[in-house]
Amino acid sequence: MTPNEMDDARDCIFCRIAAKKLPAKFIFEDDLFFAIEDSAPQAPVHILVIPKKHIPEIRYISSDDSGLMERWFRTAMTIAKGRGLEEAGYRTVINNGSGGGQTVSHIHIHLLSGRKFHWPPG
Ligand code: AMP
Ligand code: ZN
Repeated sequence: MTPNEMDDARDCIFCRIAAKKLPAKFIFEDDLFFAIEDSAPQAPVHILVIPKKHIPEIRYISSDDSGLMERWFRTAMTIAKGRGLEEAGYRTVINNGSGGGQTVSHIHIHLLSGRKFHWPPG
């Protein structure tokens, strides 16, 4: 990351939530990840699964992050399983870049369930 993008981490909402400097409804936390209820839920279940490492967008994922990526999806799956969603299924979304609808520049998985989802997405 460039120095500018590192600066962004200081102002990043999700880094500030991870540091407990901003409030959020935590539903999971370990050494590498945390999960919170989305503050503007788009479905009855809308959880954000977030690596603590400040990675602004998918293009900043490095080969050093391969283990992190595997654990990230495993964490999302474990949370879904804990909510009893595994059988019925759920939707995972990663919006990427402004054109992809990303509004917080710190990668996160949206875990959505509890209503019918359509394809193509909006
Ligand atoms: P995206 O638009 O894909 O970057 O997703 C960002 C998500 O973060 C949106 O669904 C927002 O509703 C959610 N969000 C923004 N600020 C907060 C916050 N302080 N606590 C919980 N969720 C938030
Ligand atoms: Zn961040």
